[in-house]
Amino acid sequence: MNNKLNISEIFYSIQGESSYAGFPCVFIRLSGCNLRCTYCDADYTWQEGEPENIGTVLESIEQYPCDLVEVTGGEPLFQENCLELLSKLISRKKTVLLESNGSFSIENVSPEVIVILDVKCPDSGSKDSFHPDNIRLITDRIDKTPNSCELKFVLSTQADFLYAKDFIHKNNLINRLPILFSPVQKDLAAATLADWIMKDGLNVRLQLQIHTMLWPDISRGV
Ligand code: SF4
Repeated sequence: MNNKLNISEIFYSIQGESSYAGFPCVFIRLSGCNLRCTYCDADYTWQEGEPENIGTVLESIEQYPCDLVEVTGGEPLFQENCLELLSKLISRKKTVLLESNGSFSIENVSPEVIVILDVKCPDSGSKDSFHPDNIRLITDRIDKTPNSCELKFVLSTQADFLYAKDFIHKNNLINRLPILFSPVQKDLAAATLADWIMKDGLNVRLQLQIHTMLWPDISRGV
């Protein structure tokens, strides 16, 4: 097996999402995705990308004064060599976030990696893509290492909200790990989502993308 990855972009920014929102963060964005979500803001990763040796990627991130690194996409686990990249980042003492669309098993992801998994809702067009083993794998991980997993729902409609609520209750996830509810900006007002969350007393975090507030006119490299 070669040790290359198709890389879309590597950049230094402010983490816009997750419990790490607001911190400086280096992003390694991998190319390719197995899904085609309706609201995708990284569709440029579906096709484009340049092959890079993992060693070159590791060297290139050292130019930034930051030990928080997110591996994202596209869908990073779409490339098998992503697992090696994650392990090598951990061995370099980085704090590593993996943002995945949830459709690949996280079984072989290094236990030190903080995994942020999407659960795709009906209006994403990718409903039912969540890997069936990932609920068990998430609960195993958080039992061993609290705060090692987060779940994210990107919501366009009230139907999505009801789906997300049902998913977390059905799988007994509330109060067990951070759960993030993020509105699709063009489809759902953040204040409306806030009302729904408060009305139900749902212990989830409303998540607004900080990077889109900081740099509203820039869609890549932030
Ligand atoms: S999983 Fe992410 S990168 Fe892939 S299509 Fe959906 S939003 Fe885009």
